[in-house]
Amino acid sequence: MQCIKDSIKNINIVIGCNIGCPYCYARMNNNRFHTIEDFNKPEFFENKLKMLDNKKYGSYLLTGQSDLSGWSKDWLNKVFVKMEENKETQYIFLTKRPEKIKIDSTPDNGWFGVTITSSKEKYRIKELKNNIKAKHYHLTFEPMFDDVGELDLTDISWIVIGTETGNRKNKGVTKKEWVENIYNQAKKKNIPVFMKEDLLGILTEDEVIQEFPKEFGGMK
Ligand code: SF4
Repeated sequence: MQCIKDSIKNINIVIGCNIGCPYCYARMNNNRFHTIEDFNKPEFFENKLKMLDNKKYGSYLLTGQSDLSGWSKDWLNKVFVKMEENKETQYIFLTKRPEKIKIDSTPDNGWFGVTITSSKEKYRIKELKNNIKAKHYHLTFEPMFDDVGELDLTDISWIVIGTETGNRKNKGVTKKEWVENIYNQAKKKNIPVFMKEDLLGILTEDEVIQEFPKEFGGMK
């Protein structure tokens, strides 16, 4: 059993987001450590660009404390230049608002995904593919508030499933059958699935599948 952060490191090159998810740990962190003055106004940490050259890990998540829809074109272009210089490294982005993004060209080592927390958010898959031209698309289901039902997984290259942790009132607790539904659909298309360690307790250790895309470099 591994923690996803053991394999995929966060580089929080942008901090801040105005989407306002009630379960946002990034906002909680910022309230605690005051990294930026107003979490609703994303800030770009240009001095972290050099961290994208780090070859220690094969893949980096760049939106751990932001949403791609809050990034300016200028920030994105600067990051894309670095990605082109580090073609063997994979860079992962997530958004909950793909309908607000239009990117016509992305480096081949970019992984662009949407987070889906309920069946009514499935439209994001189509918006992702319509609005961001990318070689790799991925989906994250975390937290989960209902069974997402049937999914169009065409061109999806990786799926991550998790649950909400902590003690928040009304927190989303993922159900075993919701995970199984996604997993079964992914397997029909040979899509790797990573179930986060937080699902232990909802699933047995044997049921927690942890797969990465082959491009992520040496991970199972
Ligand atoms: S989209 Fe992400 S960063 Fe933005 S509020 Fe929601 S959880 Fe926080």
